Amino acid sequence: MSWIDVPDGSPFPVQNLPYGVFRYADEPARVGVALGDQVLDLAPLSAAEGLDGGHVFEEPSLNPFMALGRPAWTAVRAWLTELLTHDTYRDLVESHLLPAADVEMLLPFEVADYVDFYSSQHHAENVGRIFRPDAEPLTPNWKHLPIGYHGRSGTVVVSGTDVVRPSGQRKSPTDQAPTFGPSARLDIEAEVGFVVGVPSAPGSPVPVGGFRDHVFGVCLVNDWSARDLQSWEYVPLGPFLGKSFATSVSAWVVPLDALEAARVTPPVQQPEVLPYLRGDEPWGLDLELEITWNGHVVSRPGFAGMYWTPAQQLAHLTVNGASLRTGDLFASGTVSGPDRGQRGSFLELSWNGTEPVELGDGTTRGFLEDGDLVSISASAPGPDGARIGFGSVAGRVLPARSV
Ligand code: CA
Repeated sequence: MSWIDVPDGSPFPVQNLPYGVFRYADEPARVGVALGDQVLDLAPLSAAEGLDGGHVFEEPSLNPFMALGRPAWTAVRAWLTELLTHDTYRDLVESHLLPAADVEMLLPFEVADYVDFYSSQHHAENVGRIFRPDAEPLTPNWKHLPIGYHGRSGTVVVSGTDVVRPSGQRKSPTDQAPTFGPSARLDIEAEVGFVVGVPSAPGSPVPVGGFRDHVFGVCLVNDWSARDLQSWEYVPLGPFLGKSFATSVSAWVVPLDALEAARVTPPVQQPEVLPYLRGDEPWGLDLELEITWNGHVVSRPGFAGMYWTPAQQLAHLTVNGASLRTGDLFASGTVSGPDRGQRGSFLELSWNGTEPVELGDGTTRGFLEDGDLVSISASAPGPDGARIGFGSVAGRVLPARSV
């Protein structure tokens, strides 16, 4: 039991304790923890308590804290839980709580490398049917390795950041030649991101069992995608300008330790995967996502059905000896379930624009229009019947700018 009163239904009960970076008034940016509708100001609190290593919370990024590794993450979480459980700390803690409405949330970590996977079988099959209707929906490699590509870490932005409609080349199969202009098929991809804390040495693969030692926490990701740019440019090297203009992440990073009750066995993998992708610990996660388009819920994808787990993704992305850095972000790929109401992109929801999505106010959409606001939220089971929330990742589309 905690002395703190968190509103019912808040994504941030005491069992969660997600970390973020905030700015309050004109003071330097620093690390905080979300508690209900308040933010716990960790830097002065840890200084007052003489917490070992507490200076990392004075930084404008989670990277220095994440680099300390799992023993420090566990110790700080235990310390916070102690403060929030015993009434003797109440006055001290309350003096370092700020109303969430009064702070500005910033990008929570300095993104080192960014990798995006493609781990939902339903999403991969839907995209295959849309783009390659005469071929097998899954490529021959899909069930043997988690397919991914390297994205652009410098354009990862925090939730709330506007996204300017990208311009670029596009050419439909019936066009004689490519044309240039604003994307007419701007889309989202609802994804879950994994944030690396502890680096690895070049040449040393991280095994599936090393997931817990290297990964600090989990956030939400919106992989904005310009489908018309993407479909013209992606052969043979994969996504490039159709995705690199912006990727949004949620402001709060939920620690892996808060998600123990959400762990589930992932789908059976058949054919059996190669030994380096096998592990004893189940790292499926029972997260329920919700996508709103201009405030109207259009989809509720479930993460538990993802074919590849984040532990397998981490093992795969390092198996060639590629090293990890603090702040690396790897995302799951679009989370889509088997039903229409569980699709994680508008490409799939509108079946490439042929089945418009109704937004509840009489308007319909195929793809994003200027001014549209998209928000993705998620929650997971926590201990004692609590729900562990992720807050949301939101962004509004602004009109294209001329070249
Ligand atoms: Ca993606």
